[in-house]
Amino acid sequence: MLTTTLGFFALTALMVWLHLRSRGTPSAPTVTAVVRGTPCPRCKALVPKGSTFCPGCGVPQQIFELTQAPTSAPGAAAGGVPRAMVRADMCVGCGTCVDACPEPGAITLRGKLAVVDDALCKGHGECVRGCPVGAISVTTGTAVNRVQVPLTNSEFETNVPGLYIVGELGGRGLIKNAINEGKMAIEAVVKALEPGAERPDGDADVVDVAIVGSGPAGLSAGLEALRRGLSYVVIEQGSLSDTVRKYPRHKLLLAEPVSIPLYGDLWIADASKETLLQVWETIVANTGLQVRTGERVEQVIRADGVFRLQTSAGVHRARRVVLAMGRRGTPRRLGVPGEELDKVFYDIVEMEAFAGRRVLVVGGGDSAIESVLGLANQKDTEVTLSYRGETFSRVKDRNRAKIATLLESGRVRAIFGSVVREIRHDVAVLQLGDETTIVPNDDVVVRIGGDAPYAFLERIGVRIVEKDVPMPPQAATG
Ligand SMILES: Cc1cc2nc3c(=O)[nH]c(=O)nc-3n(C[C@H](O)[C@H](O)[C@H](O)COP(=O)(O)OP(=O)(O)OC[C@H]3O[C@@H](n4cnc5c(N)ncnc54)[C@H](O)[C@@H]3O)c2cc1C
Repeated sequence: MLTTTLGFFALTALMVWLHLRSRGTPSAPTVTAVVRGTPCPRCKALVPKGSTFCPGCGVPQQIFELTQAPTSAPGAAAGGVPRAMVRADMCVGCGTCVDACPEPGAITLRGKLAVVDDALCKGHGECVRGCPVGAISVTTGTAVNRVQVPLTNSEFETNVPGLYIVGELGGRGLIKNAINEGKMAIEAVVKALEPGAERPDGDADVVDVAIVGSGPAGLSAGLEALRRGLSYVVIEQGSLSDTVRKYPRHKLLLAEPVSIPLYGDLWIADASKETLLQVWETIVANTGLQVRTGERVEQVIRADGVFRLQTSAGVHRARRVVLAMGRRGTPRRLGVPGEELDKVFYDIVEMEAFAGRRVLVVGGGDSAIESVLGLANQKDTEVTLSYRGETFSRVKDRNRAKIATLLESGRVRAIFGSVVREIRHDVAVLQLGDETTIVPNDDVVVRIGGDAPYAFLERIGVRIVEKDVPMPPQAATG
């Protein structure tokens, strides 16, 4: 009896021990991971779990969230009700989403943070398209944000060898990210180019790196190229840092200090866009960085390891290319005198800035109509639409219905069959058949289409993929 009882207890103890051991085995790597952390994608030093910066190279790990995120499984969309989610760590409180949302009260500003009311949000995604910093996504209750981005590795190199994408074009907004990525891409270029290598005969006109765009990412890349002694060309379709220049007047920037190559730490918290532009112009003047403004890159072709950039002014050849073109694309222009004036916009980023002003909108597609609808919602804004067609034939039904109501009520005036011939400080000259009409205005908003940035990338052969990016815990909903 005693033997049987002892045997029973021994057997039970053995089973319990085996059970505990079998449960313990899979969790062992997790324990190790918690203690040791994960390797930094840049320098491979171990970053302790929960740490924001790499202890080895000091790079904020958030910078790799897109490159490290897994590509989405096709057709694996999560179920649930779609609703907007705002990333508190990226929102700059500009309110563009509030203007873009068709559901009153679904997204509102609480201080400098946009907050979604789940009960009112219908998941249209207009706020996602409107957000200038990519801080909003529509999710279906999952903890991931599905985004469409160009495929890059942790050095920001694409599937086209030698072609790098940085800043907002790569899918991540914010000035600080753009500055950091521009600098890091040049570090990767330096690593990739054999130091001091002789260029083959006849290649004297091939620069080490061509940088497209002179926003925060392109400027930072250009300054780092200069610091590293690379031969370079920086090509900019507009003026220096065109996107920031086009922010609404006196827009306050929400940003953290960042280290600018050849300059040092730049503190731009709550500075106005005018101040930031002034600082950048001074840095460019002091360092001698050459930026070819007013030159647009139209095509990039890689042949025999050398890139050929076709621009509006000629051809450049480069061993490496860094695309820092932002996401706003290249808007189609009217090509009329006066279009370079400060009062001409190709995108509206803050409707409220136009309150009480006389605005002429040019175009007849959805983007023009949506601009008109937003402007007509502003207090005392006088809106006139100039369209060369006679009817809105290419617009969504809901836009057609809304504009019809505004035209009927007289809230908006449309001049059909009109072509803009000139823009002056306080008027625009329109041609209507054989007649000329003068339309007084304070601002002109041109929405006549353009070249989308991803279409440009696909022509070069860059793969665009869908990625599932984990949402940080501070994602804000109402
Ligand atoms: C209204 C508004 C408010 C914002 N507020 C803040 C804020 O407070 N804080 C913050 O951190 N971020 C803010 N942002 C976001 C920030 O401006 C962007 O994240 C940042 O500018 C991205 O930098 P980038 O260099 O990648 O692109 P961009 O600044 O967009 O620069 C791209 C440049 O490339 C040029 N380019 C494009 N195509 C071509 C081509 N084919 N050939 C030659 N040149 C080309 C463009 O003209 C442009 O100058 C705001 C954005 C907007 C619109």
